[in-house]
Amino acid sequence: MRLVVLGRQGSGKGTQCVLLSRYYAVPHISTGDMLRSAVKAGTPIGLKVREIIGRGALIPDDIVTDMVFNRLMEGDVRNLGFILDGFPRTVAQAEALEQMLGESGLDRAVELDVPSELTIRRLTARRVCSDCGAIYSTHKPPKFNWTCDICGGEVVQRDDDREESIRKRLALYDTETLPVVQWYEKRSLLSRITGTGSQSAVLKRIQKALTGVVP
Ligand code: AMP
Repeated sequence: MRLVVLGRQGSGKGTQCVLLSRYYAVPHISTGDMLRSAVKAGTPIGLKVREIIGRGALIPDDIVTDMVFNRLMEGDVRNLGFILDGFPRTVAQAEALEQMLGESGLDRAVELDVPSELTIRRLTARRVCSDCGAIYSTHKPPKFNWTCDICGGEVVQRDDDREESIRKRLALYDTETLPVVQWYEKRSLLSRITGTGSQSAVLKRIQKALTGVVP
């Protein structure tokens, strides 16, 4: 399976990618998670991108594209495929991915469609594990004292989930990433999925859209 999942920040994209990755047993590649790990580890890339992520801006295309390409070359992805979460976010990235994948290309791009008022509410309530990236919210916290149920890490609010960065990130989705959605639509690769409702309802809609596309 070679799948791209698109959607506004707060559309539930990350959660759905985790569920899809478990269901189809395909690696989940989240550029946001990769960049945050680089920041945490203090790698040269991490030092470069830390401030950019904090203010909700986009990382230069060449840095993200190189990072994704290196991941796509790894054995598990070559054997099993991938679910790309957070990439491509610009048309230049989509073109670079198309070139990289060559003829076998992409099976499908899924866009989760959620009204922006709802995404703002979800993002301000979102909390994440600073170690494994598991997603919680103020309405659905971990069982014990903001400690991750899965790995025991500290559950916190992301720096870029504060109001000013959220507005900036949502505006960038409209100017930079909606053209990517249209780009996939033109290539007849796009499935637009209603992203409201329960996690399992959204998952079922995506699985239905993938029927016949993946085994
Ligand atoms: P996310 O977790 O997908 O919301 O990504 C968090 C932040 O990482 C974004 O706001 C960007 O600063 C950066 N980022 C992640 N993926 C990309 C990408 N494909 N292109 C540029 N910046 C990215």
